[in-house]
Amino acid sequence: MSEEKVENVVVFGSGPAGLTAALYAARANLEPLVYEGVEPGGQLMTTTEVENFPGHEDGIMGPDLMDVMKKQVARFGTRFILDECTSVDLSQWPFRYTVSQGSGLAKTIIIATGATARYLGLPNELRLRGHGVSACATCDGFFFRGMEIALVGGGDSAAEEASFLTRFASKVHLLVRRDKLRASRIMQQRVLSNEKISVHWNTELADVLGQNEVEGIRVRDNQTGVETDWTQIKGLFLAIGHKPNSDPFVGQLDHDELGYLLTAADSTATNVPGVFACGDVQDKTFRQAITAAGTGCMSALEAERWLEARGEH
Ligand code: NDP
Repeated sequence: MSEEKVENVVVFGSGPAGLTAALYAARANLEPLVYEGVEPGGQLMTTTEVENFPGHEDGIMGPDLMDVMKKQVARFGTRFILDECTSVDLSQWPFRYTVSQGSGLAKTIIIATGATARYLGLPNELRLRGHGVSACATCDGFFFRGMEIALVGGGDSAAEEASFLTRFASKVHLLVRRDKLRASRIMQQRVLSNEKISVHWNTELADVLGQNEVEGIRVRDNQTGVETDWTQIKGLFLAIGHKPNSDPFVGQLDHDELGYLLTAADSTATNVPGVFACGDVQDKTFRQAITAAGTGCMSALEAERWLEARGEH
């Protein structure tokens, strides 16, 4: 019977954090194995133009950035598998991990599984997902040409997506639960000066109307409690933040109350030696492609040093 292979470095995730970790690990001759997850490339795959990733004078489309990043990583011999981690056993070393199609052993694990868009959790909102309700403006905006749509949120994502959606929709109604936007000043200006965007302050989504598709929304003025049906709305978008994709690890790794994995100060080390976490699964503060790439780099360097210290590299 042949002995089971033990990987030096297994990376879960293929966004900027995972790919940068793989790039550094590959160039350190660690021959990393990357499980790309079910949405390869991560959240940038559903972004339009990225203007703040250094090195791209005129900006670059999110999917193009991920494509070129992956090609760069592949040049150094990284192996990619289209699968996702379902569980890990970190109580033994080498670590045992399970993916949908099997399982394996790893000396070090780098968790770069990112985060997923949140929904409000209203029954009709969830039921009509994919039928007029979406958390991805860049994926689904196209379907709402000439229609009136609503978008919930007040951060940079909401501001960016509201502007983007005006390319298709005749009107974008932005529902903001407070009397101000959280978005950065420049993004706020873009929203407030766009004639196709109506901002509704102190307004919350109470329900989504329609049997098989969105036929309107019910909104609540949270100052007066008055609810109104807006039947002209044919599409609903959510941009209310994200949930970290840490479910396979929360039983074994320290995390905060929202599920973000905790790492040591100035480090990506988790509480289990040899297991590192980088990118949005451990960062609820910055959540930028460039910071994810930075922490991905840290994880690979730390994994390399950890292996070296154990005489494994
Ligand atoms: P944020 O957490 O920044 O904002 C979430 C928004 O959703 C807030 O306005 C929040 O309201 C609102 N919200 C949350 N829960 C609810 C709810 N239940 N009902 C109604 N509204 C709700 O998330 P983003 O995804 O916008 O941004 C995440 C990070 O990514 C940020 O750091 C942001 O700067 C960055 N980013 C940067 C971009 C860029 O620079 N180009 C583009 C997109 C994101 P409230 O304000 O009241 O809490």
